[in-house]
Amino acid sequence: MALTGIDIFKFLPKTNCGECGIPTCLAFAMKLAARQIELAACPYVSDEAKEKLEEASAPPIRVVSIGAGEDVLKVGGETVLFRHEKTFINPPGIAVQITDTMSDEEVDSRLKSYSSLEYERVGLILKPDLIAIKSTNGDASKMEALVKKAKSAGAKKLILMSSDAGVLSAALNHCAEDKPLLYAADTGNIDSLGNLAKEKNCSLAVRGDSLDEVATLTGKLTEMGLKDLVIDSGARDLKQLLEDQVAARRSALNNFRPLGFPSITFPCEMTSNPMKETLIAGTLVAKYAGIIVLSDLQGHSLFPLLVERMNIYTDPQRPMATTEGIYEINNPTKDSPLIITSNFSLTYFIVSGEVESSRVPCWMLIKDTEGLSVLTGWAAGKFVADAIAPFVKKCGIEEKINHKTLVIPGAAASISGELEEELPGWNIQIGPREAAYLAPLLKNWKAA
Ligand code: SF4
Repeated sequence: MALTGIDIFKFLPKTNCGECGIPTCLAFAMKLAARQIELAACPYVSDEAKEKLEEASAPPIRVVSIGAGEDVLKVGGETVLFRHEKTFINPPGIAVQITDTMSDEEVDSRLKSYSSLEYERVGLILKPDLIAIKSTNGDASKMEALVKKAKSAGAKKLILMSSDAGVLSAALNHCAEDKPLLYAADTGNIDSLGNLAKEKNCSLAVRGDSLDEVATLTGKLTEMGLKDLVIDSGARDLKQLLEDQVAARRSALNNFRPLGFPSITFPCEMTSNPMKETLIAGTLVAKYAGIIVLSDLQGHSLFPLLVERMNIYTDPQRPMATTEGIYEINNPTKDSPLIITSNFSLTYFIVSGEVESSRVPCWMLIKDTEGLSVLTGWAAGKFVADAIAPFVKKCGIEEKINHKTLVIPGAAASISGELEEELPGWNIQIGPREAAYLAPLLKNWKAA
C-alpha cells in the first residue's frame, strides 16, 4: 500500500533546510508521495526511514536489470502513462531470437547482424541489445550449444527461453554470471523456475493467459522472494496485446503492484510478415514494451525502430544538444573557412556531415543555444549578435586562424549587420539557408 504525504512526512527530519530543492519537508513529502521527486534528493533521511519509505519512493514499475558488470540493460522504472507528463526512462531492449530449430546458417546470420548492426545518430550509438535463445524441443545440449555460440559472438545480455527448468539450468552453466532473463514461469512450472531464478539470482519472466493470471503468478513469485520479474500477458494478437500493455501500465501507476513490472513482447510470434513484424514492434516501442523480441535483424527495419525508440525516450523538455566550442573538420589550417551554427544536435550533425562530405577543411563554432535550432534560437534571443560576439571573442578561435571571416547560417542573415558591429574587424558572410548547399560555398570560399 502506497504511503501518503503525511505518512512520509513522519519519517523526514522536519528541519525545512531546503537542500532538496523544496522549501519544506512537508512539501517534499507530498512530492515524494506523488512520485515527482526521488527520496535521494534529501541527504538527511536515516537508513531506517529509507527502508520504510522504499515503497513510496520506488517507481511503480520495477527496474529490472539483465546482464552483469558494465554490460547491463535496464528495463522498467517508468512513472507515467504519457511522454509529455515526464520523460520515459529506460528504452525497451530490442532482442533477436535464435532457436534450436534454426540451421547453423540462420543462427550465424542473426548473430552476425546482432554484432554488426550499429548506427550513430546525433552522437548516440544505436544498436540491438539482447539475444533471446529459445529451446523448442527440450533438448538441453542444443540449448547449451546455442548459448556457447551466442557468447562466442560477443552476446552478454541474454534471454533464455524454455519452460523446462532442467534446460534452463543446463544453459545457465555457461552464462549464469551474465545474469540472463529466464523465460518463462507459468502455472505449470512456477515453483521450479521460481526456485531456479532465486538460486541463480536471475530475473524471471512470467507468462499467463491473461493479465489476471499474470498478476496471480507475480503475487506468488513475490511471496517466494523474487523481485526482478518481467511480465507477458500471453497475447499474440496486436489489439489484445495493446490493451494489455495499456491496462498493465495504468494498473501499475495506480499502485497495483502485481503488474508493476516491465513487459516482454514477441512480435516474432505475431506474424510471419517481416514488414508487419516491424510495424507491430514500432507500436510496442511507443506503447510500453520493456523488451521486444524480433525474428531477425535487418538494417532497413531495425534502424527505424532504433530511431523511433531514441526519439520517444528522449526528454521532450530538453532538446538534445552538442557542447559549445570549436570543432575541427577535415583537419583545418589557419587559412580554412570558419562557420558557426547552434548546438541543437540535429543541426550540428547535419551541418558537420555536409562539411565532412565536402572534404573542405573547416573550422566550426558551435554556439550554446540550449539545444535550440538556429531560427528558434534566434527567436529566443540565444543566437543573436550580442550572444554570439562574446562567444567568438572568448572561445580562442582568433588564435587558430589567420583571417577574421565568419560564415553564419542563411536563416540568421538578419543578424549580420549587428554582428559586424559587435565584432569589430570581422567580416560576416551569409551562408546558405540549407546545409546541403554548404559544400559549393566552402569549395569557393575566400577570406574577406
Ligand atoms: Fe526536509 Fe530533507 Fe528537504 Fe531538508 S532536504 S527540507 S530535511 S526533505
